Amino acid sequence: MRETTYTAGDTATHAPALGEAAFRVLVDNIRDYAVYMLDPQGVVVSWNSGAERIKGYSADEVIGQHFRMFYLLEEQDAGKPEQELQMARESGRFEDEAWRLRKDGSRFRAYVVVTALRNTAGELLGFAKVTQDVTARWQAEQELRESEKRFRLLVDQVRDYAIFLLSPDGRITTWNRGARRMKGYTADEVSGRFLSLFYLPEDVARGKPVRLLKQAAVEGVAHDVGWRLRKGGERFWADVTITALYDSAGKLYGYTKVVRDLTEQLEAEQLARAYEAAREAIKVRDEFLSIASHELRTPLTALNLQLQGIKLLMERNPAAWNPERTGGAIGRALESAERLSQLVDTLLDVSRISAGRIELKLSTFDLATAVREAIERLAELIRQASCEVHIHAPEAIEGRWDRLRVEQALMNLISNACKYAPNSRIDIRVERDGERARLSVTDTGPGIAPENLEQIFVRFERAVSSQHYGGLGLGLFVTRQIAEAHGGRVWVESTVGKGSTFTIELPVVTAADSAQNGDEVG
Ligand code: ADP
Repeated sequence: MRETTYTAGDTATHAPALGEAAFRVLVDNIRDYAVYMLDPQGVVVSWNSGAERIKGYSADEVIGQHFRMFYLLEEQDAGKPEQELQMARESGRFEDEAWRLRKDGSRFRAYVVVTALRNTAGELLGFAKVTQDVTARWQAEQELRESEKRFRLLVDQVRDYAIFLLSPDGRITTWNRGARRMKGYTADEVSGRFLSLFYLPEDVARGKPVRLLKQAAVEGVAHDVGWRLRKGGERFWADVTITALYDSAGKLYGYTKVVRDLTEQLEAEQLARAYEAAREAIKVRDEFLSIASHELRTPLTALNLQLQGIKLLMERNPAAWNPERTGGAIGRALESAERLSQLVDTLLDVSRISAGRIELKLSTFDLATAVREAIERLAELIRQASCEVHIHAPEAIEGRWDRLRVEQALMNLISNACKYAPNSRIDIRVERDGERARLSVTDTGPGIAPENLEQIFVRFERAVSSQHYGGLGLGLFVTRQIAEAHGGRVWVESTVGKGSTFTIELPVVTAADSAQNGDEVG
């Protein structure tokens, strides 16, 4: 080779100082790159071991040949080798990645750099060519491209899941068929829009979409089940998973979002629950009906017997028909009839209460007095149960309540105490605690198991068997409705084996208070 001045780079400029022989050894030993020279016409003038290894030709076979032989035939025909030299000549350098031929006719993917070599006068001396075999990398990239393509196709074909990508700031960048189907938008309509598009306005106001993105960014994934919007504003119940995507340097480059529409499932579950609840209600009602029939039959049977007795007496021995003898029998018949009508009244009351709220007839009265009167009215029942009642009502508590309803509630509690805790002491307290009045009934009866404490206030619910104790399971339900209608409440504290305390708490509202609120009732 002639002594030349290289203009292609600094290292090359100093190369001759090392001696051309040394430089040649250096180039020749580069095995991973084909490094060779062309004259200005494109004829090969040097060849290194890398060139031999990559292209398969020995130096003897190629030196003196035109370099176009390394190109695919169609490219040779199209004049590509000459065009590339032309470009290198014009701009000093040409770079390309393309297919080249080996000696055995096989192809390899080549990364090629052609550099024009000129002397100081600018005359073209030839070209340096460096070629790298990048077939393996190309194949790997190709496989990746193919698999990405297949994956994209797969994702796009998924119908039952909305699967799409978000940019790091939460904007939509891809859209699959499932997303189209579920949300109703086409890819064009959503591309570039912020994901809050699918959230309810109140969720957006509370910052939910941003919070979920942040959670995904910090924890890697965020999962949520909730309402989302379709195009047009229809809601659907969605199961959403947002996964953060990080590159190998740990930088966030977006999110995947996978959404499943659970609306049908939710509806099916709700339907199943409603069905279950309806079945349960029907079962409870049927049980109630059988208890109620039983309860009604007891006084009815008694009434029947008593009337038959009177009839027999009249038929067999009319002479014995006198007020003393028949008076007692008729009195007992009337008691049975009274019991019957009480039961029917309770049933009617409950059906009215169940249909709507209780209408209160408010009047101003003293609670302590009302309690004493109610106890008075239950005197016979208390005597029969052999109970001993102690009243603690240290002060008068004036307020506005529905007197009959409050007495009814209290009487329910006292008659329960007599029924479940006969032969024992009953303490009744009437107390005031600031703006609230409390009526409590404490017995020393069997008590109520913790698991039943709430249940017993529910309509038809009982914690005892109907064989042992008669009753409709309605008393406490009615009591609670009355307390709540007054803005109060009722609860029970109980220890099994020790006894129970039922407490009704009512707000103390005076005539002056209610006048202020403008709801004074006559
Ligand atoms: P009923 O007495 O007709 O069953 P209630 O609604 O008055 O209906 O009471 C519901 C249930 O609460 C009763 O069946 C009983 O199990 C329980 N209960 C009520 N009061 C008492 C009490 N003082 N002691 C023990 N259990 C009670």
